[in-house]
Amino acid sequence: MGKFVGAHVSASGGVENAPVNAHEIGAKAFALFTKNQRQWRAKPLSRESVIRFRENMEQYGFDPDHVLPHDSYLINLGHPDKEGLQRSREAFFDEMERCEQLGLNRLNFHPGSHLNKVSEERCLLTIAESINLALDRTRGVTAVIENTAGQGTNLGHTFEQIRFIIDHVEDKKRVGVCIDTCHAYAAGYDIKSEEGYEKTFREFEEVIGMHYLKGMHLNDTKKGLGSHVDRHDNIGKGLLGVEVFRRIMNDPRFDGLPLILETPDSSLWAEEIRMLYSFIA
Ligand SMILES: [Zn+2]
Ligand SMILES: [Zn+2]
Repeated sequence: MGKFVGAHVSASGGVENAPVNAHEIGAKAFALFTKNQRQWRAKPLSRESVIRFRENMEQYGFDPDHVLPHDSYLINLGHPDKEGLQRSREAFFDEMERCEQLGLNRLNFHPGSHLNKVSEERCLLTIAESINLALDRTRGVTAVIENTAGQGTNLGHTFEQIRFIIDHVEDKKRVGVCIDTCHAYAAGYDIKSEEGYEKTFREFEEVIGMHYLKGMHLNDTKKGLGSHVDRHDNIGKGLLGVEVFRRIMNDPRFDGLPLILETPDSSLWAEEIRMLYSFIA
């Protein structure tokens, strides 16, 4: 199996460019936005774009299991207002459909925010219902919940919250989790120390279960443990340092998963990918 490291690459000019961009930095995995992440509406994917995406996947040797599309930042599946929720659910469904068209099998998203208008529990139930609705209308794409830093009113910063959502999702086979290292640390999981790393993933196994893990985001952080502030940094340049990434690269629990860099300086991605592979003992 081994490790599949890549980055969240640009899809500007068309989704078909993402596998090419990933190949150019020596990636074995990648993430992408299948539409402009700052806009609600997007033109449907053209037939040509879809065909060329699939061709480029083939040509550069990428397997759909190692591609982790990310949804738009505008979407809030736990939106407390009816209108905001409806808009988010439509947009999420559209993104699931795009993944399906591209032959991809997972969509990564931040669970949602209560905006201080409803309780945490109410919001988590709304998120679960949003996932159920999207899964009902699509085939073959797993909804991958990302852990958050817990900035503002964002939920999903504890394993218990993620578990609660999963508990209320009907089709457990099509729900998964993505762990972001920067978010985990900012949320208070001390993955920096060896002891804290072991404890965190033991807790993940106990509360959620390793079989739900469908990908990871490898990011260093500019903000401290428990800061609840989401600021990524390049690998080894932030407060986490390189040791946690060396552990991840040598941890068989993360074999076969897309391991995605979302580090701010994209000119370092090729170097970061090489560095991460060099960590394998
Ligand atoms: Zn992330
Ligand atoms: Zn982040």
